Amino acid sequence: MNIRENLDSLARKLYGRPVNQLTDAETYHVLLQLTKDLMAEKQAIAGSRKLYYISAEFLIGKLLSNNLINLGVYDEVEDILKESGKSVAKIEEDEPEPSLGNGGLGRLAACFLDSIATLGLNGCGVGLLYHFGLFKQVFNDRLQCAEKNDWIENESWLRKTDVGFDVKFGDRTVHSTMYDIDVVGYENGIDKLHLFDVDSLDEGLVRDGINFDKTAVDKNLTLFLYPDDSDEAGNLLRIYQEYFMVSNAARLIIKDVKDKGYSLRDLDKHAVIQINDTHPSMVIPELIRILTQEEGFTMDDAVSLVSRTCAYTNHTILAEALETWPLSYLEKVVPVLVPIIKELDNRIKRYNRDPKVSIIDEQGRVHMAYMDIHYGFSINGVAAIHTDILKNTELNAFYKLYPDHFNNKTNGITFRRWLLSCDRPLAALLDKTIGTGYRKDAMELKKLLDYVNDENVLNELENVKKQNKRALVDYVKKTEGVDLDPESIFDIQVKRLHEYKRQQMNALYIIHKYLEIKHGGKKPARPITCIFGAKAAPAYVIARDIIHLILVLQQIINNDPEVSPYLKVVMVTNYNVSYAEKLIPACDISEQISLASKEASGTSNMKFMLNGAVTLGTDDGANVEIHQFVGDDNIYIFGAKSDEVIGHYAKADYVSRDFYNNSPVIKEAVDFIVGPEAMAVGHKENLERLYHELLNKDWFMTLLDLEDYIKTKDKMLADFEDREKWKKMMLVNIANAGFFSSDRTIEQYNHDIWNLR
Ligand SMILES: *Cc1c(COP(=O)(O)O)cnc(C)c1O
Repeated sequence: MNIRENLDSLARKLYGRPVNQLTDAETYHVLLQLTKDLMAEKQAIAGSRKLYYISAEFLIGKLLSNNLINLGVYDEVEDILKESGKSVAKIEEDEPEPSLGNGGLGRLAACFLDSIATLGLNGCGVGLLYHFGLFKQVFNDRLQCAEKNDWIENESWLRKTDVGFDVKFGDRTVHSTMYDIDVVGYENGIDKLHLFDVDSLDEGLVRDGINFDKTAVDKNLTLFLYPDDSDEAGNLLRIYQEYFMVSNAARLIIKDVKDKGYSLRDLDKHAVIQINDTHPSMVIPELIRILTQEEGFTMDDAVSLVSRTCAYTNHTILAEALETWPLSYLEKVVPVLVPIIKELDNRIKRYNRDPKVSIIDEQGRVHMAYMDIHYGFSINGVAAIHTDILKNTELNAFYKLYPDHFNNKTNGITFRRWLLSCDRPLAALLDKTIGTGYRKDAMELKKLLDYVNDENVLNELENVKKQNKRALVDYVKKTEGVDLDPESIFDIQVKRLHEYKRQQMNALYIIHKYLEIKHGGKKPARPITCIFGAKAAPAYVIARDIIHLILVLQQIINNDPEVSPYLKVVMVTNYNVSYAEKLIPACDISEQISLASKEASGTSNMKFMLNGAVTLGTDDGANVEIHQFVGDDNIYIFGAKSDEVIGHYAKADYVSRDFYNNSPVIKEAVDFIVGPEAMAVGHKENLERLYHELLNKDWFMTLLDLEDYIKTKDKMLADFEDREKWKKMMLVNIANAGFFSSDRTIEQYNHDIWNLR
């Protein structure tokens, strides 16, 4: 297809004018149509066995740049736009970001789809079409407020299909429609993301903010993505959504197998299901139900077949995030599954009386993860340390039963989005220095190590970072109205707000620095800019208090003429994939400071590394593997190790107040939260609640690691002044990031679990 001719004829057809006379919004719609036309010319990826990646979240981000890159026409389009003073990046500002995920788990699913298509594997994503998705965050009076995120436009990447099914709940039946989004692989064909919507949805149900009638399930089912990704409010609606998702998925899989003329007896040869966390777990009893009640299978045959088809990924050991649904809830929402789940539980209890491995516990709660482990053929963790903790501690009883089923798949990120698209200056430098082979084989980034003493390359690397920092400064000024200094050190922590991720520890460091400058007369060698981005689940009170504290610090520090020349704080509004793409390339210090053992993997740590930031982190999740790759000299690790932390929990011997009482530095920083300066700007209720939480509970052991954190971060800031050393660290991090390509992760899933082709 001739891009230039097609662009022009589309522009004339849609708007009656040539491309160079269109507004940005019009240009976006022309490019959307052009890209969809180009994708329609691509081959659908095929194969006799197909992967169904079922996930409650797909945080796919904007698609224009990425699709143009994967189609191999980005540069050509960019050149044409340049003639009228436009750019793809500028035009993409007009694309709404699909709001289909909370955080890392959903972003992982999106990276996986990109890699599955790039590797030419026959697979699809299956999920839900949330009309308002995750809420849009705004700040009001230094508090987080949630607004509805209305992202679906008339013309979009979504395509309505004629596939749909009846879904029967205990108290009602609804009908679904499947929408598709094409996923184009890098220089490869097309896979699909299938999103199910309920036909009877009523967007008018939503009133002020994100409130709606929770009981009108047929009208509200796909309005919102349940915003608690770690805290379960035990909401029935979540179970309605989950069953709606898996019932549709099961029907789709059976339809696909039958349409291709295969026997359902061979289901496991033609389909493999990856259950992404426990939200899709009910697909197991639902498939068994359909096979036994509608397809003439015996229970034994159905159980065996489904168990050979389903694999489960565990994403967390946080007890509050492991779904356990009371049988009484399931009775109400999906009574047809209850006898199946009871039978599955009985089959375990018949030969194993250990209550630790029962699916249904003594309180009548169904442990979804346990059902997945007993009735799947694979269970994987998402980083080496996480899988070890599953095997040795958290799921040890299951590991003893099924040692061969446990395996590790360290997470990864797609380099198309997180390098080629978001950091074009760095990609250009890499192309020039080591050639373009790394685009297909990420391990080729290692070639960069040959240049670790090359002045030119090191300086160019520094210039790329400066360029990205300047671009971020402009964007933050435009969106947040805050002035930042591009010559300062950019220290960035962006991720969902959760106590285990310990944004509060970062905030305590900032207080410490503020007090040093303000009252201690200690000025940093170079100004520091502390950037946060995070949404808190609206029902997670302490998380919202932490946001409040950070916004209070932003107010106090940025407006203090004695301190603001040396220290700035900004919490950006509505952190999402698009914002991440601007923040990550501009980062110097990547904050990965979760309490050891709690962050299963993390993926922003990989994005930052790939973009030349240096990690300040605990021995947790994939930080451990990053550490192994770059060595002690190119990462800053601090804090208690996971064994020590697990020991504290086992003995229940961590007392935060002791740390507070024994350290003047800690005491001074914690007291500031309820001191006169903070109280003058913030709300007493929020600040006092956070203060008491830290002193009396501090479940994620902030004060345990605070002093080591301060010491390590100060060392890192000092090292930044050794520019030669720092530039080398940047280079070594980029050069070693190849392992964290999601292409590698997906090759391993395919080799060990899926066996497609
Ligand atoms: C990568 C990503 C995440 C995951 O970040 P972690 O720090 O690994 O928790 C969350 N949100 C967005 C928008 C992302 O791009």
